[in-house]
Amino acid sequence: MTDETTATQHTATRTVAAYAAQRPNAPLAKTTVTTRAVGEHDIVIDIRYSGICHSDIHQVGEDWGDGIFPMVPGHEIAGLVSEVGPGVTRWKVGDRVGVGCFVDSCRECDHCRAGLQQYCTGEGGMVFTYNGVGKDGRPTYGGYAAELVVDEAYALRIPDGLPLDAAAPLLCAGITVYSPLSHWGAGPGKKVAIVGLGGLGHMGVQLAHAMGAEVTVLSQSLRKRADGLRLGADHYRATSDTAVFEELAGSFDLIVNTVSADLDLTAYIGLLRVDGTMVQVGVPEKPLTLYPFPLAIGRRSLAGSAIGGLPETQEMLDFCAEHGITAEIELIRAEQINEAYRRVLDGDVRFRFVIDASTI
Ligand code: NAP
Ligand code: ZN
Repeated sequence: MTDETTATQHTATRTVAAYAAQRPNAPLAKTTVTTRAVGEHDIVIDIRYSGICHSDIHQVGEDWGDGIFPMVPGHEIAGLVSEVGPGVTRWKVGDRVGVGCFVDSCRECDHCRAGLQQYCTGEGGMVFTYNGVGKDGRPTYGGYAAELVVDEAYALRIPDGLPLDAAAPLLCAGITVYSPLSHWGAGPGKKVAIVGLGGLGHMGVQLAHAMGAEVTVLSQSLRKRADGLRLGADHYRATSDTAVFEELAGSFDLIVNTVSADLDLTAYIGLLRVDGTMVQVGVPEKPLTLYPFPLAIGRRSLAGSAIGGLPETQEMLDFCAEHGITAEIELIRAEQINEAYRRVLDGDVRFRFVIDASTI
């Protein structure tokens, strides 16, 4: 390949219809963005569905620091392959694929080699699906769009048994709870608590139940109790009832905290058995405080976990197909995105909004 061809490939672009926030906290509106042309190992995904994760709202609001604008959120992407680059070997046109929170990584560090791309420590680290900068120096744009150009190695296979709309949220909400449940051994004989019955939480209940654990939901109220039990919870308790913290003291092997807001960590740590672990997957904007006494008394651990790597995400999708697990979704049109954001913030979602991308 001559330098001239390389230069042409790098400067060629595609124009894509999308919904974007033009500045922090701005309402999302229809626009077009410019993305890279299809490279040697790229595929184009005709996006059919895109989930709305609470992380999208955090990032549009710059809760976690400066964002890159215009921002096209969306990292729960499901669609069909519509084009393949000349060097693509894994996919053909028409394949059912998904993309989660990252679209590239260094591929060489110990973590990438071990399939833990989400913990890439190589130069530049992992490339976020949106609100990131790709290896070509261009900003990345996410799933609230008509299509996505992505390296073939960073797409996952969505099994035939899973409907694309209800499978989209598995790419973030699903894997984010599957990974800690699997890592900390949720299974028969283990008592697992899921804190918060939102997008992540409702996946956590289904997955922990399918893994064979005894599952308790710890929600702010009993409002969603019937749903929680239907999804597979054995017990459902409201944390507004402070007696819960005495009654359930010392009872869980594993607590997965999906809450997007401040929480009294000290009280929850007290719910763990000796050697139990509380895993923080919710990422509120402000620091959480912890009084270390209950951590020491009981050799308990406070841990964190982020999404999952490519092999584990594929494993999770296959597990969901095998067990008939998907997200419970409310399908919306693109012009309803801003209303959906408000409803997520109000806790008024059962349990994931998914955008019908044909309306973008
Ligand atoms: P979500 O759908 O809004 O669910 C969060 C749940 O937390 C709510 O349904 C609610 O459950 C509970 N909650 C909300 N405000 C609360 C408060 N003030 N006090 C106590 N509980 C409260 O959000 P999501 O999409 O599941 O995301 C949850 C969090 O995980 C977000 O911070 C998100 O950024 C983060 N996240 C992390 C990763 C990762 O890799 N670690 C990946 C994805 C998302 P109840 O009504 O049942 O109490
Ligand atoms: Zn997410």
